[in-house]
Formats: sequence, C-alpha cells, structure tokens
Amino acid sequence: MTFEEKIREIRGYVRKMELLDHTRAVLHWDLEVNTPPGGVKPRSEALGYLAGETHKLTTSPVVGEYIAWLEEQQLEDPVHKAMLRELKRSYDRMTKIPAERYMAFARLTSEAQSVWAEARKRNDYEMFKPYLQQILEFQKEFVGYLGFKANKYDTLLDLYEPGLTTETLEHVFGELRDKLVILLRELQEKGTRPDNSFLNGKYAEDAQRALNERALRLIGFDFQKGRMDVSAHPFTTSFANGDVRLTTRYAEDDFLSSLFSTLHEGGHALYEQGIADDLVGTGLANGVSMGIHESQSRFYENFIGRSREFWLNFHKDVAAAFPQLATVTPEQFYRAVNIAQPSLIRVEADELTYSMHIIIRFEMEKALINDELTVDDAPAVWSEKYASYLGVAPSNYAEGILQDVHWSGGMVGYFPSYALGNLYAAQIYNTMLKDLNVPTLVASGDLSPIREWLREKIHRHGAVYTPSELVVMVTGEPLNASYFVEYLKNKLFEVYRIN
Ligand code: ZN
Repeated sequence: MTFEEKIREIRGYVRKMELLDHTRAVLHWDLEVNTPPGGVKPRSEALGYLAGETHKLTTSPVVGEYIAWLEEQQLEDPVHKAMLRELKRSYDRMTKIPAERYMAFARLTSEAQSVWAEARKRNDYEMFKPYLQQILEFQKEFVGYLGFKANKYDTLLDLYEPGLTTETLEHVFGELRDKLVILLRELQEKGTRPDNSFLNGKYAEDAQRALNERALRLIGFDFQKGRMDVSAHPFTTSFANGDVRLTTRYAEDDFLSSLFSTLHEGGHALYEQGIADDLVGTGLANGVSMGIHESQSRFYENFIGRSREFWLNFHKDVAAAFPQLATVTPEQFYRAVNIAQPSLIRVEADELTYSMHIIIRFEMEKALINDELTVDDAPAVWSEKYASYLGVAPSNYAEGILQDVHWSGGMVGYFPSYALGNLYAAQIYNTMLKDLNVPTLVASGDLSPIREWLREKIHRHGAVYTPSELVVMVTGEPLNASYFVEYLKNKLFEVYRIN
C-alpha cells in the first residue's frame, strides 16, 4: 500500500467519526432548541448510545495501528502531523483511563448536575460539597492515569487548551490580575460612570430578532450556511462548514443582551463557516481550542461590537428597530455599552471585570487539584478573593461558589479558556491593525475585509495548528497579556473621561 493509499484509508476511518459527531451535534442542537419535555429522556438515551459508538471508534485497536504507522513516517504535511497529534490525544485519553472508571465518573457528573441545580436553588453548599469532593478525586485519579510533567493541573488544562501549562497561566494571569485591579480602581476613583438609563424600556422580540439578523449579516455570517434560533442558553454548534447553527435568547427589557450574545455566537460561527473544505475527513475541521474559539467570539462581541465606530454605523439600525431610541447619539450608545463595574456573577460581568472572575476560578482549581485547598475552605477563599480583587463579596453561596455549572459537570480546567479568548483577541486585533484600517471599515459598514483577514489567518486552518503555534504564526509572538490591558485602558479611560 502506498503512502497516499494508507492516508486515504485513515481519512475514511476518521470520516466515520466525523459523521457520528455530526449526528450527535444535530440531536443535541434539536434537544436544546426544539425538543418538548417528554423528548428529553429518550433523546439523552440516544445521545448516550451514540457517545458509546464514538468511544468504540476512538479507542479501537485499528486506531492504535494507524497511530503507530503515522509515527513511523517522515511526515511533512502539517495536516498529516496534526492528524497524528489529534488521533493520539483522544486515543491516549480514552485508553489510559479504565472504561469502568470513566463510566463511574459519567454517572457521578450526571447526578451531580441535578444536585448542584437543587443546591444552588436552596443556597446549600453542604449539599453539593461531597459531589465536588468526589469530582476532584476523580480528576486527580485521571491525572494519575494520564501522567503530568510539572503540575497536575496541566493535564486538565490540556483537554481544553492543548499545550497550555499552569506555569504560563500563572505568569500571564498574575500580570493581568495586578494590572486590572489597578485599572478598576482608577476608573472608580477618577472616572465618570456613563449613563445608561435611556435604555430602560420594552423591546419587542420580533424587532430584536430582525436587529440580530442585521448584525449577523453585517459581520459576514452566511445564512445559506447557517441559522439563528432560540435556546435557554445561547450556543453555537457546527454540523459542517456549510451548516453552522447559533442560538440566542430574548429579554423584553434588554435588547442589548441579545444583540451582544448574537455577535458573540456570530464570532464562533464565522470561525466554523470559514474552515477549509479540504479538512473534511481529517478530524481537523473544527476550531482548534476553546481559547482560540473564544477569541473569535469576543473579537466580534467586544472589539467590534463595543467600538465607537460600530455604533456610528449601527445606531441607525437600532433607531429603525426601536423608534423610542431615535434621538440617542452613537456616542451615548458607545459609552453605555462600555460600563465597567465589579459584580458577583461571572456571566453578567463586563469586559474588564470578566477576566477577574476567571482568574479567581483558575487560582482555586489549581489549589484544589494540588491539595492546597480543601472543599471545606473553598467558599471562604472564594469570598476573600472576590473582596480583594473586585471589592465585592457574595452574601450567599448561590451568588458565590455555587453559581457555575462547570464543576458539577466535571469540567475542571475549562474556565481559563474564557479569559484566554480576551487575551488572544487583543493580540490578534493589534496585528490586524497593521494590515487593515479596522475603525474606518467598521464605521463604513463594510466588515468583509475583517472576516477575510481572520479567515485567511485563522479560520481556514481549523485544528491544523495548536493554539500556541497559531498565535505565533498570526502575531509573531507568544501569548502576551499586555495588549489586552492596553486596549482596555485606552478605551475605558476615554469612556470614563480620565485624562
Ligand atoms: Zn463563547
């Protein structure tokens, strides 16, 4: 068998996994968007069955043979190298952890999620604590199977942001935390908080939907290759680069929440729509990591959507959709959407304080996994960190340590990718400015050169390059938090009228 023939055989096998992923994604999207209550249980059963089939394909001995064969070759093509890397990642992870332990963990987390929801409702940390303890024990056990070099937490991070280390994050987040604390204090002491009272009012859902569609068309979302629907928690999923689904939700008293969430998901969707056709069958036709994905969503949500130039252009659409806002100036919108204010709830946080919520979770997860913090002490440490970094402290568990679903779902190591998205986005934006006059393009309403730039540099590559390789390829240097801090400082000093 020639090299090409063997590669074709491997791609044929990988294509079967992709088709199962496609099927699962459709069923999952439908579960979130369309399924009546009576359909939830059978759908979960169907999804569970297909997850088992995926597991079989991923861990089959034939994959082990493919990996061994690929390792013997002198691979030149970056796509072949990446195929090997990704096959090995999933194969190792799935085969090193004993199947019965993995099943036990899946049972625990499915129970833990309903316990967490009830505990949050009752504001009862003691109820959730034993589950958190067991989830952490499982994670440590899994790290034992998978191994680690410098820090146990590295192995958990690697699942969401391949190659990222705890050491790098300590350095980057440490710098970010110290600078953001100072910036926030300056805004609070010397700044003038923008007014946003003119936004109070009622906004019909139909008009909101039409406005969201305009925003999506503006950034270059292709409605021939995707859809926008409604779900309880907004998300984006890709069945193929020609069929990318995003969702949003509507609140009658807040059209901006839906608009920014749509821009955010739109950024995720552009990434998936922009992946090159020839990556089909390589296992690489998807975004490379949570962090890089989040850089694309936050780029459109914040760097574009919260820019002065965006509102210079888009305020006309808002006025057309909501006549009561017809006299509001672009500058008023611009300032109102950039209010920075410490709060307790991560998902409601602004562009500046959001990263602090993530840094707190990173510091706590790292300590919990390395046995430097117990689940008994965790709520007190949570409060201390909120008080010291943000100047606020939760008055109950629901607005403190019980607010996020992630830990109950077994996702430890996931949070950092949210903050990385901001940092990557700022660094990418800084490079883009050397090639494109972004403010002029945004003010003119022609954003297509921006999408094409991102498509060429990032989107089309899918998962061929690792996040750290991609960042160096695009920006010429490794992850650097200073671009984000500079960007925030320049914008917020102006918004808060500090000289
Ligand atoms: Zn996102």
